[in-house]
Amino acid sequence: MSILQLKIPARARKCKVCQKLFVDSDKVFSTVEGQEEDPQRSDYCEDCFDEKAIDENIWGHWYIVIKKEKVQLTPDQKAMELFKEEERGSNVEYLLFIAQYLRRKKQLIQRPEIKKEERLFFEDPKTSEVYGIPKAHIDPEKLSEFKALFFEQIEKSE
Ligand SMILES: [Zn+2]
Repeated sequence: MSILQLKIPARARKCKVCQKLFVDSDKVFSTVEGQEEDPQRSDYCEDCFDEKAIDENIWGHWYIVIKKEKVQLTPDQKAMELFKEEERGSNVEYLLFIAQYLRRKKQLIQRPEIKKEERLFFEDPKTSEVYGIPKAHIDPEKLSEFKALFFEQIEKSE
């Protein structure tokens, strides 16, 4: 009887022989052997892998160069992260400024339906969390300060 799905286990975190942890840009060699129902995978660092040790029991061998995935956030995603950071802080005017930006970018939905204690409410449609931010007046001088700071924060690349 053949099985439909044949799954080779994921790569180990370290070399089978020398136990060295694999890190970014390491060349890792892998082999598979054993029964179809229970494939045995082995992973080796470049120094420990020995091609001559490959015998007919081994289905095959291959290698990969480990690359750490770099997640590049868009400016809007960064603005949302900034909002969630600032949300725990005390700079209400700046928080409100970021919220207005996110509302314009349709990342937050304003909820005028909720009326409470001089606050503006914004919903994060992804998490459905609603944030009530105290209403604040931002004077023009501060506004240009915020703009400079904000765009520097969301546009800088990692
Ligand atoms: Zn090794």
